[in-house]
Amino acid sequence: MPTARARLAAVGLVCTLALALAAAGACSGASSIAGTDGTTSKLAFTVQPGNIAAGVAISPAVQVTIQDANGNTVTSSTASITIAIGTNSGGGTLSGTKTVSAVSGVATFSTLSIDKADTGYTLTASATGLTGSTSSTFNVNASLPAGFNQFVTTVQVTVEGTTVVVRSNGVPNHGSPYFDPSDPRFEAYNGSNPNFMLNPNRIATQALVFRIPASPTPTATPQATPLGPIGIGLNGVPIFNQYAGPNQPLTNEINSFDQYNGHPQQTGMYHFHVEPLFITASRGKSGLLGFLLDGYPVYGPLENAVTLRSADLDAYHGHSHATADYPQGIYHYHVTADAPYINGSGFYGVPGTVSN
Ligand SMILES: [Zn+2]
Ligand SMILES: [Zn+2]
Repeated sequence: MPTARARLAAVGLVCTLALALAAAGACSGASSIAGTDGTTSKLAFTVQPGNIAAGVAISPAVQVTIQDANGNTVTSSTASITIAIGTNSGGGTLSGTKTVSAVSGVATFSTLSIDKADTGYTLTASATGLTGSTSSTFNVNASLPAGFNQFVTTVQVTVEGTTVVVRSNGVPNHGSPYFDPSDPRFEAYNGSNPNFMLNPNRIATQALVFRIPASPTPTATPQATPLGPIGIGLNGVPIFNQYAGPNQPLTNEINSFDQYNGHPQQTGMYHFHVEPLFITASRGKSGLLGFLLDGYPVYGPLENAVTLRSADLDAYHGHSHATADYPQGIYHYHVTADAPYINGSGFYGVPGTVSN
């Protein structure tokens, strides 16, 4: 009978010496990888790029896996894989480590970022001798522009590509005689207008969605503002223009403004056409109050200790200079006590949209 030493020596004849010493049982012929057909074939995005903010690393990290023809991971592969932008909808530049060697058949790209916001980007993965792959589409969102982080917390503000999306139920964050008297938010009229007259409408919850350009741009052909919401205050209450109806001044409507200068229209949408007194009380007469649909900010009536009049402003009811929120300078509207109050001849910039 052969000794144990002799049997090991016999196995060693068909193995390399190193393998025989490491684990004699492991060298019995098979060279393929368990679970695969042994042929590296293609690349696949196994962690797809998600939506990201411009200039911020894609997280979780994108992973590309080397697969055989059956879609199994080729765990022995250390292939070098390169990522590039496929569909470059926004003309962006891809930064970060773009070529990575796979570990156990998987390459992880943890520092990729794209500098320009837009929707519908894709990435491609390529490696020598392997069929490449294209990722699913994703969006690169602009960072939240200055000022848009100042909405009250009940207002949802997100960025989709180059658009800021502001969602609000339109219900004021203060009392009003336009709540039902049984509602704890009911607050009897206590303003200073002796001619105040409650209109028949009552405040109702809305589903307002404002889509506002993240980077406002002036337009050579300004559009007149429509009736209905033309902007939104930082408390989520919509801003209306200076008209009660098509080219009808607010003369009579003004008497239905509550103590905070708001009132609801026929469907219960509370809004203000003039200075929103609750916002200026909480943020100051010179503070940022909200935004019009073109993305330009609306400020209070006071600037450098001077109360502005419409005559101090341009035809659109604004002007450009640096503000606390925009130290580089920006066009902005001002609220004034005299007509047209918030906006004049239309949007200074290209307006976004609003739905409800
Ligand atoms: Zn109104
Ligand atoms: Zn100003």
